Amino acid sequence: MAGASVAYCAAQCGLTVTLLDAGSPRSSDVPAALLNPVRGQSGSAPAQSLDGLRCTWALIAELEQAGFSVPHGQTGVLRPVPDARTERKWRANLPGELTHTWRDPEQPGWHRVLEIPEGGWVSGAALVKALKMASGAALVRGQATAVTSSSVRLATGEVLSADLVVCCGGSAGAGTLSPAGTHRAGSLLLLDQAPIQPLSFGAYLSPGVVGGVLGATYEAPATSHAEALARGLPLRSLSWLLDKGSALTPLSGTRITGRWTGVRLSPLNFGPDEQGVWHLSGLGSKGFLLGPLLARALVESLLTA
Ligand SMILES: Cc1cc2nc3c(=O)[nH]c(=O)nc-3n(C[C@H](O)[C@H](O)[C@H](O)COP(=O)(O)OP(=O)(O)OC[C@H]3O[C@@H](n4cnc5c(N)ncnc54)[C@H](O)[C@@H]3O)c2cc1C
Repeated sequence: MAGASVAYCAAQCGLTVTLLDAGSPRSSDVPAALLNPVRGQSGSAPAQSLDGLRCTWALIAELEQAGFSVPHGQTGVLRPVPDARTERKWRANLPGELTHTWRDPEQPGWHRVLEIPEGGWVSGAALVKALKMASGAALVRGQATAVTSSSVRLATGEVLSADLVVCCGGSAGAGTLSPAGTHRAGSLLLLDQAPIQPLSFGAYLSPGVVGGVLGATYEAPATSHAEALARGLPLRSLSWLLDKGSALTPLSGTRITGRWTGVRLSPLNFGPDEQGVWHLSGLGSKGFLLGPLLARALVESLLTA
């Protein structure tokens, strides 16, 4: 998502870009990502999340207008809260400029429901594919092992030269392309059905390209991508996920058709380092919410630097 967004924004500014990708497992292939500005269980919206949300929707509309298919639903997001205390906390923390309504609960166990009409979901894999194609970037399959501001050495020994190098690489690239960070794995269960509006509290239940998903990133932090990925989906996590899903909506009659696991990286690494290499990685759980906005800001900054 980071690399494809940077390539797309760069192309829009008239830059010719080469997009190098090792083809390792990427968190951007998430079958359905929420575009939800109100994060976690605090009811707060991180800086730039409303701008990011609007930027991602505008980008999806632009891609669809250009003929690319990006399955998504601009349906709003529902955030059920379990008790009056949480509702009070959220009311105090919600940003003034957020359009929202409080609704009465439809499910036993919910206290109230916050509806965020500007939210929704998108197919991560489809969005990345469309961005890559629309960018017109030269796509090179290869693994970078060393990077300077004007060259990239590949595992094969080949060296690619460039006027400028922007490093993305997510969790798999941390340590080589960006400083080591915290890697957190999460899984989505693929479902044969889902509610029309995504629901989120603890875990999220969302429509997807086919059926729906129930997921979250909840595993204990790991120090590397490989370590996080190797944990897979432990039984206790499966049970936690099903509990969270059942608290959102009754799951009886719903079939699990598959599973997808990814690893996200934090903290955010944005801008040039001391060697003049530019970075956009560590998007955490907000890659689709903030990725396009930050990519645009990065390209604008490097053009004026
Ligand atoms: C279970 C789960 C659910 C999520 N849900 C949401 C959500 O609802 N909403 C949301 O906004 N975000 C969500 N996220 C977070 C989002 O998926 C990530 O923030 C985002 O995809 C990160 O994108 P990225 O481009 O930084 O990394 P990635 O998508 O991991 O891409 C990294 C790329 O770098 C390449 N690479 C790595 N190393 C090298 C190398 N040495 N040389 C060349 N190429 C290399 C890889 O091949 C890959 O293509 C979720 C994440 C997970 C795991």
